[in-house]
Amino acid sequence: MMKKKSVYAAVIGGGAAGMLCAIRAAENHRDKKIVILEKADRVGKKLLVTGNGRCNLSHVGADEKSYHGEGSDALINILFSKYNSEVVLRHFHGLGLLTHADSENRVYPLSNQASSVLDVLRKRMAELNIEEICNADIQSIQKTAEGYEIAAADMRIYAKKCVAAFGGKADYAGRESGGRELLRSLGLNLTKLTPSLSPVKVRSDLLRSLKGIRAQAQASLVQNHHIIKTERGEVQFTENALSGICIFNLSREANKGGCEISLNLLPECTDKQIRNEIYARVQRDPDAPASEIFTGMFHKNLGLAILKASGIKPSLPCKDIFDKEIKFICRHISDWRFTCEESRDFKKAQVTAGGVRLSEIDPRTFESKRHRGLYILGEALDIDGDCGGYNLQFAFASGLCAGDSL
Ligand SMILES: Cc1cc2nc3c(=O)[nH]c(=O)nc-3n(C[C@H](O)[C@H](O)[C@H](O)COP(=O)(O)OP(=O)(O)OC[C@H]3O[C@@H](n4cnc5c(N)ncnc54)[C@H](O)[C@@H]3O)c2cc1C
Repeated sequence: MMKKKSVYAAVIGGGAAGMLCAIRAAENHRDKKIVILEKADRVGKKLLVTGNGRCNLSHVGADEKSYHGEGSDALINILFSKYNSEVVLRHFHGLGLLTHADSENRVYPLSNQASSVLDVLRKRMAELNIEEICNADIQSIQKTAEGYEIAAADMRIYAKKCVAAFGGKADYAGRESGGRELLRSLGLNLTKLTPSLSPVKVRSDLLRSLKGIRAQAQASLVQNHHIIKTERGEVQFTENALSGICIFNLSREANKGGCEISLNLLPECTDKQIRNEIYARVQRDPDAPASEIFTGMFHKNLGLAILKASGIKPSLPCKDIFDKEIKFICRHISDWRFTCEESRDFKKAQVTAGGVRLSEIDPRTFESKRHRGLYILGEALDIDGDCGGYNLQFAFASGLCAGDSL
């Protein structure tokens, strides 16, 4: 039987942005009915897997420099002038959540359990009588004279205000979500979607032997011979990709293809220092095979891959390694190039880059300029942050901001 319900506000998507928006709106309007429509069997499932189960919920001092998307600088400046990380965390502390920041300003619950974040949100939603309607996969949003008619297969919700907070293209379980089609059907303008904060697929026949190896490195994104962005940290090699937080932060552009990632495995050393070190190692034991040059320096398989990339047989005695070979080795230590493949795989991406154009919304309220009473939040918008709590900070801040305007 078709269920029908009239409410003041319907929030589509029980994720980070949707839950905090509903809470703030209900705190402001105690007498009004607010519902969350969630397609999964429970709200907040994705929150539980964030930060490897610890939920990196914010970043102290987050500002526009860590966000991307057309017009993101202006939007973040306006949003964070009122809802910065301090304000978001104060709201969470008010809900009972204790937090701590690590040495890189990433904020986690003190319990180091993502479930603590979800628990305080759900407790507050229950106190405020916010109804959670789960297994509600919303298929259409239509404008009516009074507001919006929101439809799932067996349900019609009539709401004065409608909040689109259905997140990115990939959900917590790696399934693709079609939420954005709902907004396209209302005539809203969306940018192209690209997976971001993901491993980067690269073309290299050396990767198989490097699978599972981790190395500290400086990773640079190179486009048309120019370095676009540089990050430092741990690089993880997988069968067909480079991974690790520093690679995630390059993936937004790298996944578009047509570029390279350059790895510098000794970023603290100058080219001269690297050359001197390799010379010294080659001369130390002239009869030793080349495969022993990197003993104590890199993982054995990494050393072998550097030799292979440099065109040197591992069995070649060190005494037969001359200037030309040393130059190749040094180049692969300080500027090892990997060609990036275009990727449309959202399943391994933590974030979707692209979405509803920021010019479609009022940055002070997140209300659609085209459709009054419609609000668009979080990852549904064309804005995405770097790794480190920036995406949840934005989702929560946009939720609070819209919640205050509903
Ligand atoms: C594995 C992983 C780890 C991450 N770790 C971090 C981290 O530590 N720190 C950080 O800042 N960011 C992290 N992120 C990114 C962060 O989780 C998202 O940017 C953030 O959750 C976006 O919030 P949102 O509310 O916009 O969307 P979401 O949290 O994705 O919520 C959207 C909700 O809408 C529901 N929905 C979708 N379509 C429909 C529909 N048609 N009808 C009804 N409901 C619908 C979904 O089921 C979902 O519950 C991580 C992401 C992943 C995948």
